[in-house]
Amino acid sequence: MALIVQKYGGTSVGSLERIQHVADKVIQAKQQGHDIIVVLSAMTGETDRLIQLARAIHDQPNPREYDVLVSTGEQVTIALLSIALHARGYHARSYTGWQAGIETCSTHKRARITKINGQAIQDDIANGHIPVVAGFQGIDSSGNITTLGRGGSDTTAVALAAAFKAKECQIFTDVDGVYTTDPRIVPEARRLPIVTFEEMLELASLGAKVLQIRAVEFAGKYNVPVRVLSTFNEGPGTLITFEDSSMEQALVSGIAFDRNQAKLTVCGIPDAPGVAKYILGAVSEKNIDVDMIVQNVPGVDQTIDFSFTVHRDDYPIALEVLKEVSTQLNAKGVVGDDKIAKLSIVGVGMRSHAGVATTMFKALGEEGINIQLISTSEIKISVVVNEKHLESGTRCLHSAFGLHLEHP
Ligand code: ADP
Ligand code: ASP
Ligand code: MG
Repeated sequence: MALIVQKYGGTSVGSLERIQHVADKVIQAKQQGHDIIVVLSAMTGETDRLIQLARAIHDQPNPREYDVLVSTGEQVTIALLSIALHARGYHARSYTGWQAGIETCSTHKRARITKINGQAIQDDIANGHIPVVAGFQGIDSSGNITTLGRGGSDTTAVALAAAFKAKECQIFTDVDGVYTTDPRIVPEARRLPIVTFEEMLELASLGAKVLQIRAVEFAGKYNVPVRVLSTFNEGPGTLITFEDSSMEQALVSGIAFDRNQAKLTVCGIPDAPGVAKYILGAVSEKNIDVDMIVQNVPGVDQTIDFSFTVHRDDYPIALEVLKEVSTQLNAKGVVGDDKIAKLSIVGVGMRSHAGVATTMFKALGEEGINIQLISTSEIKISVVVNEKHLESGTRCLHSAFGLHLEHP
């Protein structure tokens, strides 16, 4: 019997009625003859509520205890769904991360899954039972509860699908697939019937929160077929494909944005070898990930400016670090801005076409949007703009690349 992993996100399990609806959907798949593993998120808003509770006590909560706290949201939904399935005569068994054998590294708040000891789940499937697994959580080698980062239930689902060689990993959510951009920002956005794995990886890493990036990475590493579907409407959803389709590929498939960005610049640094390493080394010592990096050529005074972006949460600490670094390097000073956003266009078709960047910059220019930083790769171009331009910028790029139009 073919095995399917079904993951339901926060909105899909946001109320008792919705949990009953999920029970209907699971039973439907079971009646169609599939073995099912269910993975659930916490009820919508619950993880945020738990984080706020922790922060109300301390702005930097102890990471171990933070994970113990925020992992509780999923324990509620797995139990409720299992109760609903039992009430309908189906034998379901709920599992927290550690009970499901999901082993992770010890990096609290963003742990990586290292191994799955799936015997209990295997036995359930063999007995025709329905395992219901808490997403977003695992256990490290010392027995501590860990969590996988925001949106991490997607990764639990894909990892289980890989471990059990599922036929498909179905990500049920509140939109009916992956769109050309977030339909909440651009109502004209269209559902993509298929998206290539590479494009999905870029879209997820550049801010499209419909799938957690690690889930996409897992899917790529283990060749797991992933489909994004609506919990509320029937439809084919979006399939993430691994084939390099021979069809003519759209120049740009999608637009992603990320509002959780901040920019920092060390100005007027005397030009010398090792400056970049010195600055970025100091930042990475604080465990802060750096995203876009730009260094200009030395001006007449032989000094350079060095800019980079970080996650907005890391901005205050990064600023502190840079102030020290700036003094040590004899630089003129540090400027920062945490009111920025990153807009990105993504498409495998960019590889074989010139002029995409020009179209992008022209569209933004005509909209009166100033570009602060630019970075490119083979299949994406990202720009940093003032946060206030996030919505108008996304909309103008969406129409500049004809994404609102029906493709043949
Ligand atoms: P869940 O709780 O089901 O995991 P998420 O809120 O994490 O749901 O992800 C779904 C949301 O992702 C959608 O409601 C949508 O606003 C947002 N989103 C962002 N970019 C896209 C995109 N390109 N396609 C579809 N949804 C997107
Ligand atoms: N509940 C977690 C979160 O809100 C995990 C998830 O929903 O995927 O981030
Ligand atoms: Mg999600």
